Amino acid sequence: MTNKNMYFIANWKMFGDLRSLNSLDKVIKFSKSNKINKGRLIYCPPYTLISSFLKKFINCQIDIGGQNCHESENSGPYTGFVNSRMLKNIGANYVIIGHSENREKGENNKLINQKIKSALKAKLKVIFCIGESLTEKRKKKTKSILSKQIKVGLDKIKNKKNIFIAYEPVWAIGTGIVPKSKDLLKIVKFIKSKFKDKSSKVLYGGSVNPQNIKSLKEINNIDGFLIGGASQNSKKFIDIVKKTYN
Ligand code: PEP
Repeated sequence: MTNKNMYFIANWKMFGDLRSLNSLDKVIKFSKSNKINKGRLIYCPPYTLISSFLKKFINCQIDIGGQNCHESENSGPYTGFVNSRMLKNIGANYVIIGHSENREKGENNKLINQKIKSALKAKLKVIFCIGESLTEKRKKKTKSILSKQIKVGLDKIKNKKNIFIAYEPVWAIGTGIVPKSKDLLKIVKFIKSKFKDKSSKVLYGGSVNPQNIKSLKEINNIDGFLIGGASQNSKKFIDIVKKTYN
């Protein structure tokens, strides 16, 4: 059984509306109980729901993050975007950057680096997603892909204490497939070896659910989970946290 602080980050992607807010009551109740153990909950809803989530989470320990941000720290003529200052200003403390769904739309490591820098300047904590595609995995390129994503993504960033790495193999996202435990243990170790600061946090994301959490939680170098699909169902999300601790 793990007894460390574990992070459970809910990535709601482009799902949810005002009616979804009621479903959070269960999670709020859970967050105030001792069953949560040392788990820390962070919700990353779509931008349209951030304010409503914040209101809902007043007086509880659940934090909020954005799902992406523009690389410019200043406001400007960028239709459809928000920057990290805007997120911080509204009350978010985290932001997901480098998600593979955004990489697929053209975000490269260099742009991701600019976004991370602007987020850190705005005093946001960054959930920095990295991961290889299935083809890259088959070609045994996982380590070189991860190394490049980390090297370029974190270029010229000295202080990494507010960066959480989320290892999300692209082939595991939304597919129901998770890496073999022994592979995941090695990859997390490999990622941690890239950081001088031994307290750096590495999370796993990709099809985490209440069933597979039992084996995932045994991988003792993982510091938490980034959860997509299952996090939109409060019962499943709570079950994942509960099962991590017993
Ligand atoms: C994600 O998109 O970050 C994710 C982990 O999704 P899922 O849990 O649905 O695979």
